[in-house]
This record gives sequence, C-alpha cells and structure tokens, in this order.
Amino acid sequence: MSYGKVVTLAGERETEIKEVDYKPDVEDEAVFTEVVQTNVCGSEIHFWKGEFPVPNGAVLGHEAVLRVEELGDEVTTDSAGESVEEGDLITPVYFQPCGECSGCSHGQFYACEVVKSMGEWMQPHSIPPHFRGTFATHYYVNPGQRFYKVPEDVPNHVAAGANCALSQVIFGLDRANLTQGETVLVQGAGGLGLNATAVAKETGAEVIVVEGAPGRIERAKEFGADHVVDMNEYEESGERIRRVQELTDGDGADVGIEVAGIPPAFKEGVSMLRNGARYVEMGNIATKLTTEFSPAELTVKRINVEALLLYQPWYLEQALDFLERNAEKYPYDDLLDAEFPLEEAQEALERSAEQEFTRASLVPER
Ligand SMILES: [Zn+2]
Ligand SMILES: [Zn+2]
Repeated sequence: MSYGKVVTLAGERETEIKEVDYKPDVEDEAVFTEVVQTNVCGSEIHFWKGEFPVPNGAVLGHEAVLRVEELGDEVTTDSAGESVEEGDLITPVYFQPCGECSGCSHGQFYACEVVKSMGEWMQPHSIPPHFRGTFATHYYVNPGQRFYKVPEDVPNHVAAGANCALSQVIFGLDRANLTQGETVLVQGAGGLGLNATAVAKETGAEVIVVEGAPGRIERAKEFGADHVVDMNEYEESGERIRRVQELTDGDGADVGIEVAGIPPAFKEGVSMLRNGARYVEMGNIATKLTTEFSPAELTVKRINVEALLLYQPWYLEQALDFLERNAEKYPYDDLLDAEFPLEEAQEALERSAEQEFTRASLVPER
C-alpha cells in the first residue's frame, strides 16, 4: 500500500513519480507535514534541465506551504517561538545549514559549504525520511531545520513563495543597507525582481527597474516601480545607462540589485551606479557563463559588491511579516497563474520552461 508520493528527477528533463510505502518515524525534534501547495521555481527548472549537479532520484521542490501532520515529541513552537499544533500551516527554510563548515562557524549560514553542494537537501528519495523535497504529498522537516507558521491573512498561494524569492531579496537589500530616500536599480523583473521592487518601495526607496518583456514591465509598475527602463525602447546598453543617469540627476543609483541572471547585466549594472554605491549580485548563478569585465570598474567607482546565494534562515520570518502587511497592497495574487495536480509535475515543468506562466504551482490531491 502506498503512503505517499514524491516527484523525483530521473535524468535530463525527466521526472518520475515514486511511491513511498510507509510514514517515516518522526524524530523528537522533527515535524512531519502534508504538502498543501508547492511552486515551480526557476531553480527547479535549472535542476530539471540538468544544469546543476543534482543526483538522479532526488525529490524536486522547495517553495511550499505545509500542514503539520505530526509534531516530534519535543516540538512545541515554530522557530519564532510561536506555539504550533497539528493542523497548523507552516513554511520551512528549504535548506539546512550544517552548522560546522567554515561559513557556518562564522555565522554565515547562507554561505554553508554543505548546502552549496546540496548535501542532504537533495538526496535521493530512497534514503529515509524519503520526503525531502516539496514536490510530494508529504515533507519531513528535519530536526533543527527552521520553519515558521503562515500568518492567517496570507493565502497559501502567496505564502508558498516566501521561503525563496522574497526571503532572498529582503536579505540582499538588508545586506546592502538600503535606506529610505535612496534610489535603487533593479535589473530584471522576474520573481526576484518583482519582490525586490516591492521590498525597496516599502523601504521608502525610489525604484528604477530595467526590463524588456512586456508582461513583466507592467508587473514591475504594479509592484511599485517608479520608473521602468524598457529594453525595447533603450536597446543599447549605453542608452540604458544614460537613461538611468538621467533619472538620478546624473549620479547613478545608490544601490543596485542584479536579478536578471545574465553575465552582461553585471557590467551594465555597475555603470548605472553612483560612486561609492552598493551592488547586490544575486541573479548570476551559472559558473559556465562568462562576460568581459574589468575589475577596475569597481575600484574606480568604489563599488561595494555583495554577492549572495541563499539567506540567513531567520529572514523567512521577516518575509512572512512582509506578506502579512503587504500581500494585498501588491498583486501577489497574480504571480501564480497556473495550478497542476502533483501527478502532472512533468507537464508543469515543461510548460514553465517554455515560460507559459509567471509561476506555476502543484497542489497534491487528498
Ligand atoms: Zn525557489
Ligand atoms: Zn555549513
């Protein structure tokens, strides 16, 4: 008899649905959950295309809202100290820093060496407790893995993205110390960019977004962009740089955040910043892609670069607070525009890879 299902990676652009026959033992400090809703993130598509070293058999999925099915004997609260009971909706930090590597021992949990190599996060489903990705009917929150209750007013489909893009950009803009009254440049209006736009707006910054896709340009405005530099109108890099200078009285932006994910965006971004600015590099994660760039461009302008992947785990609490305040103010509702049953994960991935949707989600049937 089958207890639950997981969607596993079965090779390049291939997935397989595997049955798990039994419920794993729940350790004293662990939480066993049902998956309520899980999103097809851009990184899932990278994994699925074989662009990252993920072992075959790994369970896909990391953005999710979960319902507590069984609490370990010692779990009484979430990671913020809020009491938690069976039946509550929670969302987990999707990675678990090892606590022992050089990054972790300096308190830089986002720089964990083990998580970078994906360690346990994406181990094959055959290894207990099996339910280690959220493209599944169930998910096992490890002892020590942070998780937070979903605020009551935040709908599931909105909360499901909090543990990835939103936590990521709140962390990034915080590291860049973005403050009220500053001008921020957001390169790219995908999931990270739209969230960054809303977060920057709520910080009281003036937001300039650079984007070329028509649907995304409209979204950027709805998410609070004061100006959008349309790449169709300003086709050449030099034109775009001049436009950003115009919009900033000739100075350039105080803070930039690169979430376009293409190497030339880095050089262009640096040219759009003022002297002494801060620049968050977050979008470029594929080491095989390169661009020609002189490091002196950073030195000459005294640019402080924060290159970030993952976030300090407690930022998820801030992300949920942000949604509690702003989920209705910005069109978060529209960000998820397709829903599939778990069994159709392959189709959801295929069509997401073709960019048919902004964001698709999977809803396991009960
Ligand atoms: Zn994600
Ligand atoms: Zn570590």
